[in-house]
Amino acid sequence: MRFKTQNSFQIQLKISTRLRDEIKTVIGEEIPVYNFNFDLSPDNKKIYGLCAMTKELLVCAFTEKYDGKINLNTYSIASLFDVQYTRMYGAISLEYHDENGIYYEICRATTRYEDALMDGADYLFDLHDKKSVKVPEKSKNRVCPKCGRPYRKNSTTCLHCGGAKKLLFRLAGIAKPYTPQITLSMLLFFAVSGLNILIPAINKFLIDERIKAPDASLLSFRSLLVVVIALAVTQLTVNILSVLRSVVLLKTSSKMLVKIRSMLFAKIQKMSIGKISDHTSGDLITRITSDTNTLNEFLTYDLPECMQQGILLLGIIIFMAIQQPVLILLAIIPCPLVIIMFNIINRFMHKLYRRQWFIGMKANSIMHDIFQGIRVVKVFGMEQNETAKFDSIVSKEKDIRQKNETLWNLIIPNANFLMGIGEFIVLYFVGVKILNGEMTLGDMTQMTSYISIIYGPLRYFSQLPRKLVRTGTSIAKIFEIIDEEEDVADIAGAKQIDIQGRVEFKNVCFGYNEHERVLDNISFCAEKGEMIGIVGHSGAGKSTLINLIMRLYDVDSGKILIDGVDIREISQESLRRQIGVVLQETFLFTGTVYDNIVYARPDAPRDEVVRAAKLSGAHKFIIKLPDAYNTVVGERGYTLSGGERQRIAIARAILSNPRILILDEATSALDTQTEKNIQEALAALIKNRTTFAIAHRLSTLRNATRLIVLDKGEIAEVGTHDELIRQKGIYYGLVMAQRQMSKMDKVK
Ligand code: ADP
Repeated sequence: MRFKTQNSFQIQLKISTRLRDEIKTVIGEEIPVYNFNFDLSPDNKKIYGLCAMTKELLVCAFTEKYDGKINLNTYSIASLFDVQYTRMYGAISLEYHDENGIYYEICRATTRYEDALMDGADYLFDLHDKKSVKVPEKSKNRVCPKCGRPYRKNSTTCLHCGGAKKLLFRLAGIAKPYTPQITLSMLLFFAVSGLNILIPAINKFLIDERIKAPDASLLSFRSLLVVVIALAVTQLTVNILSVLRSVVLLKTSSKMLVKIRSMLFAKIQKMSIGKISDHTSGDLITRITSDTNTLNEFLTYDLPECMQQGILLLGIIIFMAIQQPVLILLAIIPCPLVIIMFNIINRFMHKLYRRQWFIGMKANSIMHDIFQGIRVVKVFGMEQNETAKFDSIVSKEKDIRQKNETLWNLIIPNANFLMGIGEFIVLYFVGVKILNGEMTLGDMTQMTSYISIIYGPLRYFSQLPRKLVRTGTSIAKIFEIIDEEEDVADIAGAKQIDIQGRVEFKNVCFGYNEHERVLDNISFCAEKGEMIGIVGHSGAGKSTLINLIMRLYDVDSGKILIDGVDIREISQESLRRQIGVVLQETFLFTGTVYDNIVYARPDAPRDEVVRAAKLSGAHKFIIKLPDAYNTVVGERGYTLSGGERQRIAIARAILSNPRILILDEATSALDTQTEKNIQEALAALIKNRTTFAIAHRLSTLRNATRLIVLDKGEIAEVGTHDELIRQKGIYYGLVMAQRQMSKMDKVK
């Protein structure tokens, strides 16, 4: 019964801890070189497993049930020969052979843990051969080495292990330029707190010396009025200073918000395509908007309040400790209890709010996905399905939120009551003292005011964990992006070069992940002004090759040289400015046609823009649009046809006057007639530039000076169209297949 109330996240966490503890019995406190989870038994039953490897040992712990017995297998790395992984349907297995060449399975997992397992095999292989183990950035440990908890997807920040403190320091770093404003607001905090402590003292004076004065001759309405006015002025000053403090803080935190948002946005812009595609756009948007908002709210409202209440609490405790030490002791009797209680609540709420954050992000991602693919949704009549999908996640989020809030609201009143007990004790104590004539009525008013002021901050602090947890999660998410290592980055002193157009590949190898090579040992040289056609079956690596020229990814080994300079030494800005691209699908930003053409070179004079449009053949249709060049094209340019969008893309490329041009299936989406027309525009564009063209219709590559035929990531053939036809190899086969297809089309 006990387990039914636990959610899968809690169960996973507890199992991880149990497995980790069991592994620790073998490896002690040594931090593993690598560890990973697995989840299948050799007979494909669901299990919970964790493997950890040190330089000498591989230890695998697994259990079939949440609370079941943990089995432990320990291997000496030296005895594991030829470690490898085998892919099966929906599963992957890690194996080794012994001295006699017999294979044994170490563990097995579903595809969820595929990458981790494959990395594990690589590490074991290297460890066995005594090679130094270099943790590749792409596949760094997926588990926090300190606490063994798995990181969240695409995250390497452990929110448990001292992460919060580090994050606060980082925030302080960002706040540094605003030190004067922060100092001013601190002074205002002190002033407001001091005055708040003064008010009950004036009250006491009012009661004891003016209202119930022992010497009636002292009483005069005038002096009474003076005290009341003093009270009112103090209160008014508190209010004015509080407003001033809020204004200063609001201004400062807004500036910080802008700074953090722009840091985040700039970082995302700098990230390589590979890194960006690791995240969903919903995830990134949530981080830029909602997480920074949470942080801003915290900085503007919660942090100041927290400081104000803290100073007030400390001030009153010191004041009372001097005046009435027993009273303050009585008042704080229940505090340790309350603090312990809230510590437990804090930990519990932490988990709940993290879940809420993730499900919120998921809802955002789904929404974003649906909007992006709204045409597909409509075409397939899937509106209801998508609505149901969205409703289900939103309702899940609602359930979690409701549960969190209900829990919170259940906990708070009871905790408040517990804290109130101190107030009752004090009331009784003071009452007894008044009856004994040891205290005046004024004393009582002053002390009870202080006690209730003390409970104000205590109550406030009791709510703080919830806010801190929510903010902590958001700050971690923000810094995770800001701290993400740049994989395709400019080196120090990256060169700005004037590209002439000679492109050379030297033994280039590349894969999107460690385990699969997409391009293998590619070497060729394209001279300035050449047109190189890249041909091959689908999936052969054509687009990948082009991505590497644009340096959207870095090569794993080998070099790409432009005019003899390694592209990793050229500044990315300089490189991309001189490379023009026309892709199969042209993205048009929301804005005018003019804006979309001039995008490539925002400072281009208007007549050059028109000239580029004329050369690309776009001018003719643009002037027929309702507002000609000023016509606003909708989101993704839906209002223009594929051919028209393509002409705009070509005009963009002509305007940017690149030295290297890339045409990636530039005309594939068009019908034959439109393609023919666009080919003319392309011919104007290609002149005097080194061009790399991928085309589905091979006939469009006839003019290429050379064709490079890729096959399974390797260069299979190189030559002109005629040479390759004569060679009767892969290219010949592709051309024949296409001719056959077009003949069949004509017969239809
Ligand atoms: P082509 O352009 O010849 O059709 P690609 O260069 O697009 O081939 O793809 C080559 C291989 O790389 C394919 O197996 C494809 O699945 C894989 N691939 C392409 N892009 C990615 C990516 N972003 N991440 C992982 N694998 C990719």
